[in-house]
Amino acid sequence: MTTSVPVSRKIDRVRTKAMGGPTEQVDKNALVISPENVSQTDPFLLMAEDWFSSPGFEWHPHRGVETVTVVLDGVLEHGDSLGHAGALEPGDIQWMTAGRGIIHRELAYRNEHAHTLQLWLNLPADKRMVETRYQDLRLADQATLEAPGVLVRVVSGTASGITGPAENHWPITGLIVTLEPGSSYSPLLSPEDRAFAYVLEGNATMAGTAVAEGQVAWSDPMDVPDPTTLEIRGTDPERRTTVILFAGKPIREPIVFGGPFVMGTRDEIEQAYRDFRHGKFGPIPRLQRL
Ligand code: FE
Repeated sequence: MTTSVPVSRKIDRVRTKAMGGPTEQVDKNALVISPENVSQTDPFLLMAEDWFSSPGFEWHPHRGVETVTVVLDGVLEHGDSLGHAGALEPGDIQWMTAGRGIIHRELAYRNEHAHTLQLWLNLPADKRMVETRYQDLRLADQATLEAPGVLVRVVSGTASGITGPAENHWPITGLIVTLEPGSSYSPLLSPEDRAFAYVLEGNATMAGTAVAEGQVAWSDPMDVPDPTTLEIRGTDPERRTTVILFAGKPIREPIVFGGPFVMGTRDEIEQAYRDFRHGKFGPIPRLQRL
């Protein structure tokens, strides 16, 4: 047996989130990952940060994509055409595979306030129309790993031998890393993966590159032997640093966005709109507010 020393990754790009809003749905929002250059973000399509109270995101469809919604603050009320309904609290995560089609809503519980982060995951062409699936990944069910000054919540995939609860159609590692000032964590990643790390609070260095609160650092796939590592260090002297890290292998297939649908061709997007209009996603649910 040979022991390979992990190869250190580098940061290829750092981007700063673009603040926006208010809009008809939200009080404020930020585009953390823009969908405009998917070749640089695949298998991640976009990530939005939203602050909303009323109305939030009333009934709308999705097809061909997975959405991962992390509740950062407030309470998220959700309901969908599969019959799920509930309220998610800070730290809870909703992992939804729209697959062939779902109609859902995402609202602030009692129209109070919700602050969420929503990541859209790409899927290979042969998985875009899979059975719709809904996973609640409650804070208490997320696997955690602790070391001095370090707390890692493993949402999806495996880190340091700990496997998170999410079931994947395309393998994705998802970690929420909290670091006390000066502490660091270095997850092992497959060299084939593209990784991004978003600084939610505090300040960090990633592979030696400074990344501030509100910035996202990207590390592209590397042509090296397994495994690679990315050192994340909390550098804010005053407070802890929290970073959301996701990694996955790029899918490298054609992508067409059409509003809430993500497919491989323009025809498939048009078909999605037709199917939705003709009721093939089911009727708009009639659900009481919680
Ligand atoms: Fe949605």
